[in-house]
Amino acid sequence: MANDSDPFSEKLRVPEALTFDDVLLRPKESRVEPDEADTTTRVSKSVQVNVPVLTAAMDTVTESDMAIAMARQGGLGVLHRNMDADQMAAEIERVKRADELIIRDVVTASPEQTVSEVDEMMDRSGVSGAPVVDDESGEVLGIISGTDIRPYLEVGESDAVTEAMTDEVVTAPEDVTPREALELMYDHKIERVPIVDDENRLVGLVTMKGVLQRREYDEAARDENGKLRVGAAVGPFEVDRAQTADDAGADILFIDCAHAHNANVIDSAREIKAEVGADVVVGNIGTREAAEAVVDFADGVKVGIGPGSICTTRVVTGSGMPQITAVAQVADVASQHDVPVIADGGIRYSGDAIKAIAAGADAVMLGSYFAGTDEAPGRVITMNGKKYKQYRGMGSVGAMNEGGGERYLKEEDENEEYVPEGVEAATPYKGSLASELHQLVGGMQSGMGYVGAETIPEFKERSEFVRVSAAGQQESHPHDVMITDEAPNYSPDN
Ligand code: 5GP
Repeated sequence: MANDSDPFSEKLRVPEALTFDDVLLRPKESRVEPDEADTTTRVSKSVQVNVPVLTAAMDTVTESDMAIAMARQGGLGVLHRNMDADQMAAEIERVKRADELIIRDVVTASPEQTVSEVDEMMDRSGVSGAPVVDDESGEVLGIISGTDIRPYLEVGESDAVTEAMTDEVVTAPEDVTPREALELMYDHKIERVPIVDDENRLVGLVTMKGVLQRREYDEAARDENGKLRVGAAVGPFEVDRAQTADDAGADILFIDCAHAHNANVIDSAREIKAEVGADVVVGNIGTREAAEAVVDFADGVKVGIGPGSICTTRVVTGSGMPQITAVAQVADVASQHDVPVIADGGIRYSGDAIKAIAAGADAVMLGSYFAGTDEAPGRVITMNGKKYKQYRGMGSVGAMNEGGGERYLKEEDENEEYVPEGVEAATPYKGSLASELHQLVGGMQSGMGYVGAETIPEFKERSEFVRVSAAGQQESHPHDVMITDEAPNYSPDN
């Protein structure tokens, strides 16, 4: 109890909350080489990925190009919702089709066509071969390739395609595995295998190029049918969008809300969870009590109230929670209920990402880190001879004007001036996602090495923080030198 001699008010006896720069991982005895550190993790109850990284659901970060690239590299892209539900469904489908073993949209030839017509058609469609399919029954009659008809040596250009095609076609059933398909192709020295049903009707095509491309991405995040994984943001009250995204095949729906610890939001998120087959991750939250309010139904929770690089929530509203404390508080509760935790926002360096995991997160979500890559939407702009890409908060005036930012919108704002909680900015152009992600994950693995942990669960268990003074923070960054060459994973401007 405060008394007259106490200079403080009760109101000012406040707990301290910490963020990335306030802590460092205590180095420990280790036998783990960084490249042996296994970064496999869960981002939601039923979705496991090899790389514990997600790209933010922002209109300058994640559309289908980014989601495809992320899933191929082993992480997960979360599509933003500044587009209507049908567009979102098309984006989800694009990701799902990207690395499909069986191509469903096959360019086919008709037995009625001439050799030159088929040649032209294949040229136009950019394919080098096509199954010849009976127009009525859909049965595969043969297969034709560029080498069968060019340069019209043995067949005339006006001959029927049936004269030139190979009619002993090697086909496979729909449940063919990549290995079986490849063996068939090697054994018969062919480059494509039509996939047929029991009645020899065409259902798709597997190509050598497709199988080899899938092999290249052996860490890719794939669903049980081998398709790339993708997440989609839905507003807490957007039950229809949630259903559309679920039907289109999204693996995880992310309830996209600036402050999910709100009874109406939670009721609606619960309703969405009951309606969909996909996992539902609820966010954002930043306290123990908020975690307690959602862990009974959420398949994952996302943490971050105001840490984002483009975010002004804390200065505009005076509210927020420094991110290391927020993650640790939420993880205290979520881990008791086996609910994965995603730390969202504020991550500038790989060191921040691995500190978030040490605090209890299972995976991290980043916006600014990836907004400058080729795969992010938007074009490269040049200012003063340096290249940049646009990066803006979803609660910025620009994003809200384009229909987004509902997450930060008050109802009465619709006809009035917005009260934004984000800014519009530019971020240095960075080249390919693959190389940025390589730096991020490589740094995280080194962090696991310093602590002597081989897996993410072991790392969460083994890691300990030390508190860093202001002088210690200064010591952490390059000091007393002038940087002469850019490092791929460090910029003093971050
Ligand atoms: P970053 O990685 O750039 O530090 O943070 C990205 C995260 O910031 C996003 O995943 C999202 O949670 C959050 N965010 C995106 N736009 C806004 C905004 O306009 N205002 C606020 N408060 N947060 C935002």
